[in-house]
Amino acid sequence: MDLSWTPAQEAFRAECRAWLEAHVPAEPLPSFDTAEGFAAHRRFEAELHAGGFAMVPWPVEYGGRGADLLEWLIFEEEYYRAGAPRRVNQNGIFLLGPTLMEYGTPEQKARFLPKMASSEEVWAQGWSEPGAGSDMAAIQTTARRDGDHYVIRGQKTWASRGAFADWLFGLFRTDPDSERHHGLSFVLAPLDAPGVTVRPIAQLDGETGFAEVFFDDARVPVANRVGEEGRGWAVAMATAGFERGLMLRSPARFQETARRLVDLYRQRAGAAPPTLREEVVRCWMDAEAYTLETYRTVSRLLAGARIGAEASLNKIFWSELDLRMHEAALRLLGEGAGLLAEAPAAPDTGPWLDGFLFALSGPIYAGTNEIQRNVIAERLLGLPRG
Ligand SMILES: Cc1cc2nc3c(=O)[nH]c(=O)nc-3n(C[C@H](O)[C@H](O)[C@H](O)COP(=O)(O)OP(=O)(O)OC[C@H]3O[C@@H](n4cnc5c(N)ncnc54)[C@H](O)[C@@H]3O)c2cc1C
Repeated sequence: MDLSWTPAQEAFRAECRAWLEAHVPAEPLPSFDTAEGFAAHRRFEAELHAGGFAMVPWPVEYGGRGADLLEWLIFEEEYYRAGAPRRVNQNGIFLLGPTLMEYGTPEQKARFLPKMASSEEVWAQGWSEPGAGSDMAAIQTTARRDGDHYVIRGQKTWASRGAFADWLFGLFRTDPDSERHHGLSFVLAPLDAPGVTVRPIAQLDGETGFAEVFFDDARVPVANRVGEEGRGWAVAMATAGFERGLMLRSPARFQETARRLVDLYRQRAGAAPPTLREEVVRCWMDAEAYTLETYRTVSRLLAGARIGAEASLNKIFWSELDLRMHEAALRLLGEGAGLLAEAPAAPDTGPWLDGFLFALSGPIYAGTNEIQRNVIAERLLGLPRG
């Protein structure tokens, strides 16, 4: 692996930096789990798209700029450095997009990717159901074939951004007699279709980060199926590989948190116990290690490799690191750590508490870390099923 940047890569970095400095809003946007914040994030996505930065590694015809994955990592480093808004269409651009590149028909790519890149269409992810979380093969929602349509009946839940999104991708049981991971198909469903009801789920903070989605004989064209009928599990596993193994959490996100943590330590070092110093250093080193590991993954992908079960190692590492960094910050903040951002005495501390609360969910979403450990045990270490 060559760890130095080429002049062209350095020039690309400078171009990203200049554009972001000119366009990133001075004040943070409202949370994208509110109607107002969602709309504001979508407007920013349109700006990114107009600037050619929506999804740099995608082909130009689909709204990208034909860069490679290393340049995408450079863009991500600059994006987090600039404190730019979180990506409201992450389910689309980071998960479904790469899946369509690999499994979609030319018509599906032409129809869906450009509007994904511009975030005219924002996507929700529909795996989980009330009876199918970790055990995703227990999916019950059916998609019955009726001519050139599927008729979908059942319920999805915990769909992030689902309350405001336009489309949902998910797994549906197309063979009613099938069991487990057989007989499932990967289907794209518009959330405004007749027979689809979206019910927002209010979180503890009152924001609607999730939705339940009810399908009551909603009709979706068969042309919206990605991959072969009944073979959707393999497509979904590829989506999960992109999510856990590379795209959802680029290292820049954690490097930026580590940088803020080191700054916080410098400000508060006087009152901090010595063990905390070691923990801060460990967090910083782990963020750097994750960065190097990601460069390695990208180098392998550029050489033709595919993301496999090692994505589970990755997911455990970034989710646990995120939590440790936020825990260290809260310990540094001491008694003030529990104050919300709007409290007069806590102008600088609130983001750490917000970040901590979200980091708590890292070991759960994208497949729980217990499930990832099962994958590692069985598929990487070859241990017998537990
Ligand atoms: C922030 C966030 C965003 C999410 N976004 C989405 C989304 O957009 N779309 C979507 O479809 N879902 C989403 N989810 C749901 C998420 O995928 C599920 O919560 C997760 O898969 C766990 O399923 P569950 O909640 O039903 O828990 P359960 O499956 O009931 O698990 C409960 C506990 O038991 C453990 N457990 C279960 N089975 C085993 C086993 N075999 N071995 C060891 N331990 C086991 C789990 O690890 C967990 O600790 C999101 C969740 C969160 C927290």
